[in-house]
Amino acid sequence: MPCVLGTAVEEFWAASNLAFKLCPMLTQGAVEALEHFGSPAQKDRFLPKMVSGEWTGTMNLTEPQAGSDLAAIRTRAAPDGEHYRIFGQKIYITWGDHDLTPNTIHMVLARIDGAPPGVRGISMFIVPKVMVEADGSLGARNDLQCLSIEHKLGINGSPTCVMAYGQQDGAVGYLVGEANRGLEYMFVMMNAARLSVGLEGYAVADRAFQQAASWARTRVQGKPPGALVGVTGPAPIIHHPDVKRMLLTMKSQIEAMRSLALYGAHQLDLGNGHADEARRAAARACGDLLIPVIKGCSTESGIDICSLGVQVHGGMGFIEETGAAQPYRDVRITTIYEGTTAIQANDFVGRKLARDRGAALAAMLDEVKRDLSSSEASVTRDAALEAVAALEVAARSVLQSWSQAPERALAVAVPLLRLTGLVLGGWLLAKSAAIAARQLAAGSTDTEFLRGKIATAHFYATHALPGAAGLSRVVVEGAASVIDTDAALV
Ligand SMILES: Cc1cc2nc3c(=O)[nH]c(=O)nc-3n(C[C@H](O)[C@H](O)[C@H](O)COP(=O)(O)OP(=O)(O)OC[C@H]3O[C@@H](n4cnc5c(N)ncnc54)[C@H](O)[C@@H]3O)c2cc1C
Repeated sequence: MPCVLGTAVEEFWAASNLAFKLCPMLTQGAVEALEHFGSPAQKDRFLPKMVSGEWTGTMNLTEPQAGSDLAAIRTRAAPDGEHYRIFGQKIYITWGDHDLTPNTIHMVLARIDGAPPGVRGISMFIVPKVMVEADGSLGARNDLQCLSIEHKLGINGSPTCVMAYGQQDGAVGYLVGEANRGLEYMFVMMNAARLSVGLEGYAVADRAFQQAASWARTRVQGKPPGALVGVTGPAPIIHHPDVKRMLLTMKSQIEAMRSLALYGAHQLDLGNGHADEARRAAARACGDLLIPVIKGCSTESGIDICSLGVQVHGGMGFIEETGAAQPYRDVRITTIYEGTTAIQANDFVGRKLARDRGAALAAMLDEVKRDLSSSEASVTRDAALEAVAALEVAARSVLQSWSQAPERALAVAVPLLRLTGLVLGGWLLAKSAAIAARQLAAGSTDTEFLRGKIATAHFYATHALPGAAGLSRVVVEGAASVIDTDAALV
């Protein structure tokens, strides 16, 4: 299925129940790992029931001493004839154990005895919870156990497990692909996984927005100032200018991030399937560039949006019955798992920008400027063009410091990442406003939806995009106050 379609559908799952959505998401990650790198026999044995959903899958990377830094993984794999015996502990394993399905297939990163230290000595293993016989039937329990389930801030429907492998004679594990290439295999699946977590940010935020908008239309409080035709007494709070501002902030940021994620997904599809090799390469470079932006920005803004959702509810937002607090708690994890925002920003600056000296970003911004310049002048378009210029200045400055003093570039990597998301979101909203205006002029009757697009883009241009100049200044001038401050003074 095209990634762009999958991304749109997955949003519904994430908005409906983020905790539950993680189960098929992780299973899909394990399926992709096997599809790409498993042997034909492994695929035959495990894939059909994982794809059908009869069995679930997990990804086991994290250990107590190895979170962002996977080079520190210690789980061992000892050769034992045709397979390996796995010994070690993994933490935070999403859907690591449960009784919804008769089997769970764990994809586990571990070091084969004698493997080189660091990232080049890590291999990937299939470790089934219940052994699968040659005829496909289930056999004995493998030597692995869920030691405990974490008590969490949110996504409480998802069991986050501490997993112990090999407490007796070692869990049977089957090597996937070649030894010592496990982390490289994980990285191949990284784009899909990071896109999938990125969309969680705006999906959960949209749930919060829908709740808040509906609350604001029915909660009556105070008489809004100014002229409200036909209203003489207290009115629904949506008519208070600040409540409307909060709702427009929520709506516009969600639409900006959704457009960016769908645009990125489309680039990944073109990168995989376009007939022309040059077009495939350009789309791949663009998709790769955008993934950390989508993951980092959509999840960070998801937290801000869900917080606004609580605010729109007033005191009732803090009371559990309204359900406004749940998205706020659930969305909080999205900036942490699948690489924290800092890890996305490091990837954006250190790999995506530095690798080609900013060529992919420059190519994309050229397209953005061409596209914006070809539409009619408006507040929305001009604000987007101004914001692009602010991003160009910031990106140049970071590229320059990366080659001289990388720590200075990394000190402002997150602000640069957020600036990039802000600006590209502004471009896509301006683009959709221009399309909406054309369709209205052509006589479309979908007027409320189309006018909503234009209004949302206009709001974003006047409330969000002016922040681009400030962020750009932080990127250009802000590194010194981080790097020159001794850690003891923090
Ligand atoms: C609910 C939940 C579900 C999870 N599911 C899974 C799962 O299914 N499988 C799995 O393997 N893991 C899973 N994880 C683990 C998750 O991916 C890690 O928590 C995450 O990668 C961060 O690692 P850490 O917790 O060790 O934090 P740390 O790495 O200790 O990071 C702490 C802080 O330091 C910063 N930091 C660390 N290194 C750098 C750096 N190089 N540059 C800048 N800043 C840095 C981070 O950004 C962060 O702010 C899950 C975690 C949770 C909480």
